[in-house]
Order: sequence, then C-alpha cells, then structure tokens
Amino acid sequence: MTSTDHTNTASPSLPLPRRKTREVGIGPLVIGGGQPIRIQSMTATDTADAEATVAQVNALAEAGCEIVRLTVDTPKAARALPEIRRRTAVPLVADIHFNHRLALEAAPFVDKIRINPGNIGAQTHVAAVVARADEFGLPIRIGVNQGSLERDIAVRWGAHEAEGMLLPPEAGYPAEALVESALRNVGILEGHGFTRTLISVKSSSVPVMVRAYRLLADQCDYPLHLGVTEAGTKDNSNIKSSIGIGALLLDGIGDTLRVSIAARETAQKIEEVRTGFKILQALGLRRFGVEVISCPTCGREDQGFDTTRIALEIERANAHRSRPVKVAVMGCYVNGPGEAADADLGIVASGRAAKIFRRGHLIESQVPFDAVVSRINQLIDELEREK
Ligand code: SF4
Repeated sequence: MTSTDHTNTASPSLPLPRRKTREVGIGPLVIGGGQPIRIQSMTATDTADAEATVAQVNALAEAGCEIVRLTVDTPKAARALPEIRRRTAVPLVADIHFNHRLALEAAPFVDKIRINPGNIGAQTHVAAVVARADEFGLPIRIGVNQGSLERDIAVRWGAHEAEGMLLPPEAGYPAEALVESALRNVGILEGHGFTRTLISVKSSSVPVMVRAYRLLADQCDYPLHLGVTEAGTKDNSNIKSSIGIGALLLDGIGDTLRVSIAARETAQKIEEVRTGFKILQALGLRRFGVEVISCPTCGREDQGFDTTRIALEIERANAHRSRPVKVAVMGCYVNGPGEAADADLGIVASGRAAKIFRRGHLIESQVPFDAVVSRINQLIDELEREK
C-alpha cells in the first residue's frame, strides 16, 4: 500500500466520539484536534547503519506507515541521521534516553523527539533540548513506561531494592504511577514554556495501559500516542494491541498508535503497520484499501464455492490498492444478500453460480464460481476509476 485514504469519520452506524486534543505538528502531519489517527512504527536496525535503516524506513512507509521512530542511542547513530533524512520522506522521530546531547544533534534531521525530560538530568539540559526543539519547530513525545519511572515515583508505588537493583512491585506498577510520571514530565516542559507535547503511557499489561490513558485523558488535552509495550510476538501482540488500543479508541482516546511486535526483520515489522490499519478499519475510524469481509462458512456453503479461497485471492490481488473498497463474500443465499448489502461489492453464492451486488443492488446473477475473483477485480478497478 503506497498511500492511505484520510477518512477519519466513524461509520454512520457507529459514531465514535473523539477526545478533543490540542493540535501538534509532526513534519507535514497535524496530530490531534480531530485529525486522522496516524500509524507509527519503529525500526529495529542499528541506526548507525544508514543503509539498513533507510531500507527499513522506506519499506515501512511503502506499507503505509505514517511516522517512523529510530533509536538514537550513540553519537554514531546521530551522525547517520543526515543521510537517513536525505533518503527518506516519512516523518522521523529520534528516540533518545538520558543523553540530551544526542537530541541536540538529531534535531535538524528529524520531525519529533521522544525523550523524558526527567531522565536527562539538569534543568540546563532540558532547557537546551527545548531551545533546540523550538529552533526546528519540533514536538516532543514524553514516552513513559514502567522501565522509565523516576526512582521516587517507582518507590512510592511499591518498588523495592534487591541486590542493588530497583525491582517493581510484584503486581507491577499501577496506572497511577505512569500517569504521575507523565504529568511530572509535562510539567517540566511547561516550566520551560514548551507545549508541543505528545504523551504515551505504555504498559505490557492491557488493563494497566487502558486505565493509565483514561486517567491521563481526564487530566490534560495533549495528544496521546497509544501502544501496549513489550506486547510479544505477532499473535500475542495483535491480540493485546487490538484490545488495549481498541478499547481506548472506542472511548475516543488516541491520536497516534503503534502496534509493537517483537520482530527484527522488515517483513515482520510491516505487520505492525498492517495490524494498526486493521484496528482503525475495524472501528470505522479510517478506511484503507480493499477490505474483504467474509462469512465464516458453515455446512450450508454452496457446493463448489470456496468462500475462504475467494476472500484470500481478492485480498492478495488488491493488497496494493489504497482507495477504500469494502467487498463482502458470502457462501450461500440464506443470509448472504442481507450481509452483503452494506458492502461496495457483494458476492453471494446462489446455487451453481454467484450473484454480485453493488451497494446493495443486484448487478449480475449468473457469475460462474471460477470467474468470481476476476470479475470482482474488474469491478474494483471500475470503482477506483469512478472515485
Ligand atoms: S452465509 Fe451461508 S455459508 Fe456463510 S456462514 Fe452464513 S449460512 Fe453459512
């Protein structure tokens, strides 16, 4: 998928609320204030390896990713940024911990900085980062998770010392600890007159992250970046992210999102983007490309009609498209026409041939089962040309 639609309204049957947040620019994008919810991902390459990083950034962007974060953990990584910037077009975010000098170095070549002001030491360091962000008009994301909690906050919420290490409470930190840290960091930036701020309060616990974002949403109007951290490999992450991010989006909370999958390879990273699309699509918040809905099939499926294969073939043949088209595939006539009525194109098996509906109207009634996929692909082409 090379581009996305920018529909941001819920379907008429399910008007979702949107929390009103202040607008913050990230490169050419505006985040918050009712703007489309944007999909973000992060590279897994060594940023100092510009060649590999450029390839992964561009592959993510090609898959539709709208904001890409890179770790900038060493001076060598910072020195690779000019080349990475020159060879990529998608908004970039420099992810920085502890060393404020890396933020100063990265600023001219990125569109956002992720840093927790409470972790970079002296107020002079914070002032320097704020001044640099102002110089280039960059926003800052405060990214809180349980590993980033300030020591005093961690202790107050149950951390204990063992063998020289600070260990979290057995039940994990509560949402309140994440929110306290986020608001403290917001306060530090506000103390320097800085308000182009976005916030995340990620946890690997879905209930904790959902509660944290809800609490935070009640206490500020900054745009929120949603995610479940350390969500695991693809299947687990998809489930945890769909529940956690989905629950918040249903509340109207969230301005950007990232599905985090434990994966290093580019093809796997792209799954983060795809799942992000699917979450927004499932909620009717944005539509992307060809969405195939199909019945689960059952013993009534007409003989010779293979709902699963047809759905998969249509998905694969149209994976490159960006214009939103909804296609329904139904295995028999019992519920088929009713279920397909909502779609732009509906295919309903009906005895020995299929019927095709267009926005609820029957347009063809004798399409051989083995010609269904090619006929639908032609009709998708036509719809695209009309739009
Ligand atoms: S549409 Fe027909 S084949 Fe598909 S699940 Fe429903 S009853 Fe079964």
